[in-house]
Amino acid sequence: MNEWKNNLRKIKPYVPGEQSKEKNIVKLNANENPYPPSPKAIEALKAFNAESLRLYPHADATPLKAAIAEYYGVEIENVFLGNGSDDVIALAFQAFFNSEKPILFPDITYSFYPVWCELFKIPFKTPALNKDFRINIDDYSGENGGIVFPNPNAPTSICEGEEFIRKMLDNNTDSVVIVDEAYVDFGGYSSVKLTKEYENLLVTGTFSKSRSLAGLRIGFAIGSRALVSVLEAVKNSYNSYTVDALSIAMGIESVNDDEYFKATTAKIINTRERLKTELEALGFEVLNSSTNFIFATHKKYNMKEMFEFLKARKVFIRYFNLPRIDNYVRITIGTDIETDILISEINNFLNKGE
Ligand SMILES: *Cc1c(COP(=O)(O)O)cnc(C)c1O
Repeated sequence: MNEWKNNLRKIKPYVPGEQSKEKNIVKLNANENPYPPSPKAIEALKAFNAESLRLYPHADATPLKAAIAEYYGVEIENVFLGNGSDDVIALAFQAFFNSEKPILFPDITYSFYPVWCELFKIPFKTPALNKDFRINIDDYSGENGGIVFPNPNAPTSICEGEEFIRKMLDNNTDSVVIVDEAYVDFGGYSSVKLTKEYENLLVTGTFSKSRSLAGLRIGFAIGSRALVSVLEAVKNSYNSYTVDALSIAMGIESVNDDEYFKATTAKIINTRERLKTELEALGFEVLNSSTNFIFATHKKYNMKEMFEFLKARKVFIRYFNLPRIDNYVRITIGTDIETDILISEINNFLNKGE
């Protein structure tokens, strides 16, 4: 009886930053962009012919691919599109990580990677970041079934440069290396141009953070034809139409509005540096960030308590109850006004015992 229950998949899913239903919260817990999408993308939404939704979208989303290809100086055949970069990375795991050998990613990183490994039954190992939370390149020089890491890394916010990425690729000519560049537009180093030199490098990106379009779900990858064609084959064995018509229309306008993109990312970088300075003045240690969030700790205060205190005051940040980082918080960069509220509530927390 009920034997079917034995065959149900037992899996622990990834848990994203909480999406609270409360109003008037300061939401700094999911690395969303505090600014709206490009006005040109919003215009494209207003001008969108809703009746056209009876038709399937462009199967290859070619117009959006073309805009992305032009932006990055690559060919259309080097661009892959998916329903958010989570979709792209999940497809890449299935397309490229088919060895018996374990794939490698850091112990402290995007917590979706181990979930995909469980889901797709991919063996993995997680070499520890060093005490400064940097990737130790020597941990990635042995035999492996593939490599994936975010650059900048999350939640540490630290970015490695060209020399590091080249070394990683030169040490791993026999496996596919995926560099997840979800946060690269906030001052990080992008390895996109290295995809022309290294056929085994796939770089993934997203419109969710720097382009303020998390609600649409647009993700992409750039790589050699050898990699992109296999990604397309895996996608087309699963779901032919990943990117919807509205995302295509709005995505194109977003890519083409470089002025707005540059202005909003610069504002976020500015606010980030201001927040870092102010937190350091309060005794926090803040890692050098190349992202739209900071990763911070305080020697004299309990960060889990601070996280809960702020939550009760409707300021949502992210706390990970994980080894080595259980006295850190990850704070998304908001507007300047949100940052003022955050700092004032952090002051209330620090002073509450006195
Ligand atoms: C946000 C994020 C993604 C995925 O974003 P999508 O919204 O699915 O495009 C991928 N990797 C990292 C490290 C992220 O933080």
